[in-house]
Amino acid sequence: MADLGNPRNTIAVLQKYQFHFQKKFGQNFLIDPHVLDKIIAAADIGREDFVLEIGPGIGTMTQYLCECAREVVAVEIDKNLIPILETTLKEYDNVEVVNSDILKMDIAKLAREKNGQKPIKVVANLPYYITTPIIMGLFESHVPIEKITVMVQKEVADRMQASPGSKDYGALSLAVQYYAAPEIAANVPPNCFMPRPAVGSAVICLTRHKEPPVKVTDEKLMFAIIRESFNQRRKTLANGLNNAPDLCFSKEMIQESILALGVPVNVRGETLSLEQFAELSNILADISFTNIDNVCVQE
Ligand code: SAM
Repeated sequence: MADLGNPRNTIAVLQKYQFHFQKKFGQNFLIDPHVLDKIIAAADIGREDFVLEIGPGIGTMTQYLCECAREVVAVEIDKNLIPILETTLKEYDNVEVVNSDILKMDIAKLAREKNGQKPIKVVANLPYYITTPIIMGLFESHVPIEKITVMVQKEVADRMQASPGSKDYGALSLAVQYYAAPEIAANVPPNCFMPRPAVGSAVICLTRHKEPPVKVTDEKLMFAIIRESFNQRRKTLANGLNNAPDLCFSKEMIQESILALGVPVNVRGETLSLEQFAELSNILADISFTNIDNVCVQE
């Protein structure tokens, strides 16, 4: 089968099947072999690996994955791409194409069936409109994962990798860094895709932590505190948490807990590290446990 990373071959396939791109599915197909090589190298796939690909398109990256993995499952929502994938992947007996919405699949079950207890690798040029739900869904549903290597919007990659105090730092940085170590492997300009997206892109590797880097007594509470801290970015952390509809700790409890972190009471949430958010939520969880009349944490 001709290398689909070559734009001419991609165009030939699209014309043969009279395929029309669907914007609603975030369809921007990769047409640069160098970028494809970089993704495969960054994903670090070997003959023993099972790989889940999200959104194979016409199968360009799938071909590369089939060449180096033990087995690939490629999940594609657009039924018009299925007959194309049957042709472009016909040489490979280590791939299964599933016509489904990735957000509706039980990926933990798929991983168990295909890879037993061993963690899987996920590789994708993601549809940008659902980047965050896909990545957070993979982490939060406790799918056994070793590494996620994905093409995302450059701005989103920067947010995932950001450190406290930077303009890109926010709830997404903390959520991703709680589960994984992020590393941008390549920046990718719009001309590497067909059609060209309006924004720049980046390949980011998320290597899953074996153990979370912080100890948290109530994960749900920590993520609620993080969410509320960044929902009201211009406010101090104390005011943000005090006005948060999802949390109802008293003003005194909030101030006391912030001071217990060893930071000024008027600190802003955007300066706090993951360790400090974990400590804050542990302190608040402790206080609310011993002082149950003063608190209500809504579901
Ligand atoms: N992997 C191909 C490539 O690199 O050329 C295509 C990448 S394109 C950015 C995103 C792909 O994800 C499209 O094929 C699109 O149809 C598919 N897609 C969009 N939403 C999806 C969903 N919810 N579940 C599975 N696939 C989806």
